[in-house]
Amino acid sequence: MTGLVIVGHGTRSAAGVDQFAALVERVRRRGDVGDVEGGFIELSRPPLTDAVGALVARGHRALVALPLVLTAAGHGKGDIPAAMAREQERHPGLSYRYGRPLGPHPLLHDALEERIDVALAGADRAGTALAAADRAGTALAGADRAGTWVALIGRGSTDPDANAEVAKVARLLWEGRGYAGVEPGFVSLAQPSVPAVLERLRRLGARRIVVAPYFLFAGVLPDRIVAQSAEFAAAHPDLDVRVAEVIGDCDALADLVRERYAEALGGDIRMNCDTCAYRVLMPGFADKVGRPQRPHDHPDDPVGHHHHHGHDHDHGSVAVVGGGPGPDDLITVRGKALLDAADVVVVDRLAPQGLLAGLRPDVLVVDAAKVPRGPSMAQESINAALVSHARAGRRVVRLKGGDPYVFGRGHEEVQACTAAGVPVTVVPGVSSAIAAPALAGVPVTHRGVAHDVTVVSGHLPPGHPDSLVDWAALARARGTVVLLMAVDTIAKIASVLIEHGRAPETPVLAVQDAGQADQRSVPARLDEIGAVAAREGVGPPAVFVLGPVVALTTTGPKA
Ligand code: SAH
Repeated sequence: MTGLVIVGHGTRSAAGVDQFAALVERVRRRGDVGDVEGGFIELSRPPLTDAVGALVARGHRALVALPLVLTAAGHGKGDIPAAMAREQERHPGLSYRYGRPLGPHPLLHDALEERIDVALAGADRAGTALAAADRAGTALAGADRAGTWVALIGRGSTDPDANAEVAKVARLLWEGRGYAGVEPGFVSLAQPSVPAVLERLRRLGARRIVVAPYFLFAGVLPDRIVAQSAEFAAAHPDLDVRVAEVIGDCDALADLVRERYAEALGGDIRMNCDTCAYRVLMPGFADKVGRPQRPHDHPDDPVGHHHHHGHDHDHGSVAVVGGGPGPDDLITVRGKALLDAADVVVVDRLAPQGLLAGLRPDVLVVDAAKVPRGPSMAQESINAALVSHARAGRRVVRLKGGDPYVFGRGHEEVQACTAAGVPVTVVPGVSSAIAAPALAGVPVTHRGVAHDVTVVSGHLPPGHPDSLVDWAALARARGTVVLLMAVDTIAKIASVLIEHGRAPETPVLAVQDAGQADQRSVPARLDEIGAVAAREGVGPPAVFVLGPVVALTTTGPKA
């Protein structure tokens, strides 16, 4: 049977460690989940490495690793997988299936309900009655759920999804159980705090409050919940405030461990990834997207030195860098230097992808094309990511294709950084507007042929109400026109230019994938370019250059 390693975070509380050990023993005694070991990633003994080592020593090469956590926050999503990755390095060939966090689950809600009942039944049992001035008037405390408010207190996390899960459990605990209400609160890192949620309940008219810690085992934070509740109770002697026990070692928890184990073995692990801050940009948490995970150091763990690069600079900054039209060596020297020094690179689809291969392995690369949300929100999300990484002290390079200010929205990013007080600099780049014609043998100006060149966005067709382009003026001008983002609009643009005076025989060259191995040029007359481009399947990225300079195209052997 596949071995199970139950992974705990670790605690400074001896009682908590004992409860964890008791649960592991309970699961082991039942004998229905194979070979079982438990270990911690921090603070307590035994360390995870001993637990895994024991299972490997007994011949296991494939394990189920179950994070014994209630919500999927940093420990479950990052620290424990990172620690398991290190175990895999120690034991080549070791594989494991990773179980999902325990909650939310009806078994846990039922366990919480029982703990609340015990607290309601009186402090003679496990619950702690902190102030009960009017206890005499409410002798039927145990039965009187309708007069009882519950403050469900979770650990609190910098992961919004984990905090939301506590709110969900609060709701599920309320539904159908007859309490006056259940409000979520947090003992660290998230709001509302314990005092804040108790005050909220008081203002809602609560006379009796049970504070229910949403915690598996005893520890520093559950102790703090008791202390903070006692302080509140002391300040409000007219209220009946009690604190329920943590969930603790019990059969329900062992049942749940078995269920998560079976789930992992069956491959049906239904993590909620839709609102995971490491995958999806959540407002205020942009720096988490794609962040690499590093294992914690267990004091008993024989690990080498750890280097933490880049996260201890005080002053983060953003450089908006033009990467040139595509080839690795058409970025500026300054842009490359900034790239080499970056901690985070937020990269566009059209930016030179080849440069990414040369980054240090610890550089976080954020693919801006994959930043989620609808198109209109995408730029805001990118701006937010730049600002938040810089605020976290990182050197951020925003790597863009061509030049940042040529239809690159670079200035919006600069403005966002400036507004946020983040130092920002712009590094110009070689724009495809000039480079794509050049790489195809077309000079955008030439003495005696063209004394002007106009770079135009074709993303809106002529006549579009939002268009800012004076197409008639471009038609009357004699010089070079370079059209970007015009693959879909070229036919319409060409006919409007002819309509307003450009000669139908004006030469045009479409240049697709300039600078790439599959660069190609498609020539046509202005009156035919729409049809030719469509027939030839010209697709983005492509520029169209038109005017007398196109007749000068050199197609001879390259240097
Ligand atoms: N800031 C960029 C342009 C961004 S708009 C720059 O200065 O180059 C995107 C448009 O640029 C594309 O639709 C296409 O028209 C053009 N483009 C970018 N890279 C290109 C390439 N390698 N070959 C041809 N056109 C390119």
